[in-house]
Amino acid sequence: MNIALFGPPGAGKGTQAKELSKYYNIPHISTGDILRANVRDGTELGLKAKQYMDKGELVPDEVLIGLIRNRLSESDCDTGYLLDGYPRTIPQADALTDILNEINKPLDAVINIEVSDNELVKRLSGRRSCACGESYHVMFNPPEKEGICNACGAGLYQRDDDKEEVIRQRLAVYNDKTKPLIDYYDDAELLVNIDGSGAVDVVLNDICNIMDKFK
Ligand code: ADP
Ligand code: AMP
Repeated sequence: MNIALFGPPGAGKGTQAKELSKYYNIPHISTGDILRANVRDGTELGLKAKQYMDKGELVPDEVLIGLIRNRLSESDCDTGYLLDGYPRTIPQADALTDILNEINKPLDAVINIEVSDNELVKRLSGRRSCACGESYHVMFNPPEKEGICNACGAGLYQRDDDKEEVIRQRLAVYNDKTKPLIDYYDDAELLVNIDGSGAVDVVLNDICNIMDKFK
């Protein structure tokens, strides 16, 4: 099953993708996670991406297109993939269509997780992340021990781009550059909207009902 999880920052894409990836045994491809790993490792890509990420801007399309092309051609994507955070612009979506046609793995669906702006700000400002990829929320999904990752025991941190001013900028960038993809994928008859405002398990169940059709 070839799926893209779509939605604004904070909609719950990463939270859902982690569960779905385990359940359906397909790789979770988060461009944000890949970029953050590069920033941590101090790679050339990471140094370039960081300037944009810290300001809540998008990293240039050519960087993302090269990155996703390489990742999708890895063998673990043979049985499917779950995209999270890509595509975010029309040129990225056009490039994705070309790449997926070349490797013969076209999208089955783009699942758009809908959440109100007020809720997004609450979710993002309370998010706490771990370098291992897990994430929590101070109120909605707290770790067992405050500030400590349940999965690996490392200390949690607040992402620089989860600070209030940067959150507003990221939502503005979403509205300007990314939201137009809703019509793009609706026209392509791939879009499925789901209500992302409920509890994690409720949203997960709704997404599974969609994904089961493509097993
Ligand atoms: P995204 O990957 O779309 O940016 P995340 O999955 O990281 O969003 O979720 C953002 C924050 O909201 C995290 O702190 C997460 O724990 C919390 N969260 C995710 N889904 C829900 C939900 N259904 N209800 C309440 N909080 C949620
Ligand atoms: P995310 O983890 O998806 O919230 O992404 C964090 C940041 O990484 C974004 O604010 C962008 O700066 C960058 N990023 C992630 N994915 C993309 C993408 N597809 N296009 C451009 N920038 C991206």
